[in-house]
Amino acid sequence: MAALPRSIQVGRETLRLPPEAARFLATLQGVIADAVVRDLPQRRDDGAVARLMATIAETQSAETTKAFQATQTGRVEQASIACAAGCAFCCRNSVEITIPEAIALAHAAGQGADSTVLIARFQATAPLIQGLKPLKRQSMAIPCPVLVEEACSRYAARPLACRSTYATSAQACERDLASVSKGGPGKPIKMPATPQVIRTGVVDGITSGLARRGLQADTVELIAATTLVLSDATAVDRWFTGERVFTAFVR
Ligand code: SF4
Repeated sequence: MAALPRSIQVGRETLRLPPEAARFLATLQGVIADAVVRDLPQRRDDGAVARLMATIAETQSAETTKAFQATQTGRVEQASIACAAGCAFCCRNSVEITIPEAIALAHAAGQGADSTVLIARFQATAPLIQGLKPLKRQSMAIPCPVLVEEACSRYAARPLACRSTYATSAQACERDLASVSKGGPGKPIKMPATPQVIRTGVVDGITSGLARRGLQADTVELIAATTLVLSDATAVDRWFTGERVFTAFVR
């Protein structure tokens, strides 16, 4: 089992985890790790990887709702979420994902009438962000390649980080992006911690399960990793043999 964090990052804040939260995350991590060991295919099957990631995303969602609903503080926190369709300031940030999520997102991007356009967008965007630190990257406000008319065109396949990043004020997100774009330090964004705490357990479970399977388990940058999957026909096959194919994109 991977060591559980005593604290997690919520936006730019560090949040210390109480012991009961750490115990809950240990259980969640174990359940997810077992699912990865059991259900990740033995060789390349992008559809099967996408289905596993969808199931894990459903678990994350259900656990988040349960945690919100368990206490009055949680219910207030849930009610404070301001995120809504058409608001996509956070889709210009650097997003950290697991390798199976890159495979699932590439699988989704490669399907549908707009797939050629989306793949070209990934390939055009990846060189722009190569080697950039997250703050520098955010300052350039480069949109995620699957963002179309300020909406996620692959919403069902969006990564766990995208599903757990919430804010209580769209204006705060806008002010933060404007500040960073001008070279400033950014502005504070109040973010509900519950979804990010749950995601920590889920992501630790995925990486722990991958490590048990002998596969590269690092978390990686979304655009670069997904572009590799879309552009190199052998990358996923090689990852399934245990090769550390995604090392250049490790976060
Ligand atoms: S995958 Fe979708 S939700 Fe996530 S950053 Fe890209 S456009 Fe936004």
